[in-house]
Amino acid sequence: MNPHATILGAGLSGALMAIFLAHNERRVLIYERRPDLRKVDMDAGRSINLALADRGIHALKQAGVFDDVEPLLIPMRGRMLHDISGQLSFAAYGQRPHEVIYSVSRPGLTRVLLDHARRRYGIEPRFLQAARALDFEHDELVMLDEVTSETQRLRLAPLIAADGAGSLVRRAMIGQLGTRVTEDVLEHGYKELTLPAGPGGTHRIERHALHIWPRGGFMLIALPNVDGSFTMTLFLAQYGAESFATLDGRDAVDAFFTQHFPDVTPLMPGLAREFLEHPVGRMSTVRTERWAAPAGHAVLLGDAAHAIVPFHGQGMNACFEDCFELNRLLEATGDWAHSFNSFEALRKPNTDAIAAMALENYIEMRDTVRDPKFMLRKELSFELERRFPDRFIPRYSMVMFHHEIPYAVAYERGRLQARILEEATSSIDTLDQVDWASTTGWIRERLAPLVESSGSPGEG
Ligand SMILES: Cc1cc2nc3c(=O)[nH]c(=O)nc-3n(C[C@H](O)[C@H](O)[C@H](O)COP(=O)(O)OP(=O)(O)OC[C@H]3O[C@@H](n4cnc5c(N)ncnc54)[C@H](O)[C@@H]3O)c2cc1C
Repeated sequence: MNPHATILGAGLSGALMAIFLAHNERRVLIYERRPDLRKVDMDAGRSINLALADRGIHALKQAGVFDDVEPLLIPMRGRMLHDISGQLSFAAYGQRPHEVIYSVSRPGLTRVLLDHARRRYGIEPRFLQAARALDFEHDELVMLDEVTSETQRLRLAPLIAADGAGSLVRRAMIGQLGTRVTEDVLEHGYKELTLPAGPGGTHRIERHALHIWPRGGFMLIALPNVDGSFTMTLFLAQYGAESFATLDGRDAVDAFFTQHFPDVTPLMPGLAREFLEHPVGRMSTVRTERWAAPAGHAVLLGDAAHAIVPFHGQGMNACFEDCFELNRLLEATGDWAHSFNSFEALRKPNTDAIAAMALENYIEMRDTVRDPKFMLRKELSFELERRFPDRFIPRYSMVMFHHEIPYAVAYERGRLQARILEEATSSIDTLDQVDWASTTGWIRERLAPLVESSGSPGEG
């Protein structure tokens, strides 16, 4: 084994993992193929801001870095839905003051993590160093210096592969270790656009909300930035009548936006130019059968192990939770190989669960939110949480506000709760039609299994 751990990738997972390890006095080397984003702006047009929630915040606090991150955060209290006529309706995410999620700049957050690692622990990633090949049998990682074109051979163990959704380490595991991986590519892609700030850096639409323009087969969303702008993301089919393939010129883009998003299009003066310049991103769900290579050689972390679609705003949050859990296991056992195996066993059922919930949420965001029954079920789920706080927590809240409830438990409980909500709202149109006197017993009985199926973090 090396006297230090090698982390491949200085993205969100790699940077936070480095902080956790250094915090516990482990030596860390990080290699990153891209230039230092603190010196070069590289992310124009690609996933500029993200939603940070309780799981991510908990991990950042445990790593001792949350105080540095906090100034970057903009609270979003709920979804602001824009219908075709420009009518707005607001649906709160939770019912307690702290039940909010936060918009945060991706490059800003990565910068803060890298700065913290350097300032507190003297860790400076080696930038422009790309992993090119990996040989498990000979315990060797081949790195290419992108500036000098020289190659260097490193010993693997222990290697933490935080090299993202297209992970080279995962591909080597498939080829050399027979690891089974599925990658389901979504038929829809995404494109990021800007709604610029108003005069004096003001926000031109409600600042403390995640805006959604749900249009059935596709949707536009907006998350606020601290400079007064919003990052808008259009999620749309790659091919077909209304798709990225057909929006191939200024006129087509302008007509599409004017037809479907008339209230916000006038606020986006650079729309057609940005649309034609920015790339279409692809989204996929990666499920990896084994995350740990034998003998503590390597482990996959973050998107490298379990990339998911972005519709629950949980990809990064799950990555941060990974870092916390892997570090906790290392602290408990002091043994890399054992920790890598336990990490895989603990996390995989949970990341499979959030992958499934993220896919379900796409339909909810772009379509189901428009159904009055959806709003009724949401209201009822808050009411049930108020009446039976030890028995019922809305699924969204379990995922976003309760890091102590593992994703797999949230998924399972969510399934039972969905059936209760479905049944209880089948013959009513408003909440005041619920006859609590006669239904309380019935609901209590239905909720009993939820108490039994709940768990604490680490129970998987
Ligand atoms: C449109 C979109 C919206 C999203 N919104 C949210 C959200 O709201 N909330 C949320 O929680 N998550 C969100 N996510 C998910 C989140 O972005 C990812 O889960 C997270 O960035 C993964 O971090 P990572 O460090 O594991 O991988 P990455 O961020 O991909 O980092 C991997 C790093 O490894 C480096 N690397 C790759 N290969 C090599 C190599 N061969 N050698 C050296 N270095 C290498 C890369 O350059 C990169 O820096 C979203 C994702 C998308 C696409």
